[in-house]
Amino acid sequence: MDVKGKIVLVLVNDPGFNAHDSTLFKGKTMTYYGRWTYKFEEAGRQGAKGCLIVHNTEAAAYPFTVVQNNWNSSQLRLDNRGKKEELCDVIGWVSGPAAKKLLEAAETDTTLFAKADQKGFKGQSLGLKLSTSMKVSTEYNKSYNVIGKITGSKHADETIVYTAHWDHLGIGKPDETGDSIYNGALDNASATSGLLELARGFKSLKTKPERTIVFLSVTAEEQGLWGSAYYAQNPVYPVNKTVANINMDGLNWFGKTKDIVVVGKGQNELEDYLKEEAAKVNREISFELHPEAGSYYRSDHFNFAKVGVPALYTSSGTDIDGKDKEYGKHLKENYTSKNYHRPSDEYDPQVWKLDGAIADLQLLFQVGKRLAFEDKWPGWKENSEFKAIREKSLQ
Ligand SMILES: [Zn+2]
Repeated sequence: MDVKGKIVLVLVNDPGFNAHDSTLFKGKTMTYYGRWTYKFEEAGRQGAKGCLIVHNTEAAAYPFTVVQNNWNSSQLRLDNRGKKEELCDVIGWVSGPAAKKLLEAAETDTTLFAKADQKGFKGQSLGLKLSTSMKVSTEYNKSYNVIGKITGSKHADETIVYTAHWDHLGIGKPDETGDSIYNGALDNASATSGLLELARGFKSLKTKPERTIVFLSVTAEEQGLWGSAYYAQNPVYPVNKTVANINMDGLNWFGKTKDIVVVGKGQNELEDYLKEEAAKVNREISFELHPEAGSYYRSDHFNFAKVGVPALYTSSGTDIDGKDKEYGKHLKENYTSKNYHRPSDEYDPQVWKLDGAIADLQLLFQVGKRLAFEDKWPGWKENSEFKAIREKSLQ
């Protein structure tokens, strides 16, 4: 429908999730189109004046207070001076109850939202008008991505790019102990050091990699994946010569695990590469516990996927050697609720066991090494949202 000059009201997540229909989109697993960033971007591309997302705790995977906290402060963006961007003038979220009030004010069928999750639904006008204003002040600052490479011996123009974001949250609201320093030891000092170790590993290979290996430490991930977005829009090495991206965001501190988690099940063939490398050392791949949270769209590899580069993103396994699986899940969920994005994300030599991180890095190293020597390039799988983008870019 034509939404030029209109304010669009959209539901969070995908119809398949909301309607509990496994045949619609990818069912419970969030797709690129269900991610809120996509909704704002698409509304802008369609020429809408504004876009409001209707919140719902289950579909968003977090309560409305998270939206309020995240959006109630200054936001980072890329410097867009002199660039033509298709953006809405106003974007925001409304709570479920507030959205219901909107339907009532429009004297519209209050089951409209449920209908919007069915096949064949067509958007309709609510006949309401919105006018608003807000004061905006802008400050321009600089931050840096850091890049290094080991030039390939045979196909120097073809690259494999490893990424890890170096930024964290800085100084913020004090926690209950009065600590206001957000160290980000796991997120993401751990993978920043992992990136350096991978570089050391590739440098020490007796036979030089045939393709170029790039080590990219990106900035400003925490507030919108901006460093990697900038790189994807202004690539140092052409995107259609970039064979793959392997991204790390938080390494394993649980000790050795049997499994390593692939985030974004079924997206591309890098998953199979990892599976084969894992099998060689008697390990296996497993998949994320909450595919509805859309984690594949929430770290730097996503910006590579958006321009078509097959991207692998892994997370720590939960099948810890000598423990039952529930223990691993407990550790993971405990970190998310107690330490994630909090001052307590600190290194603790009593608790952290880094042999698991080393084992995971060795796997990611082997995947990259194989890519550096192999004849073929990995591709996206049949039902991936990014397959068509890659095919177009390689034409
Ligand atoms: Zn992170």
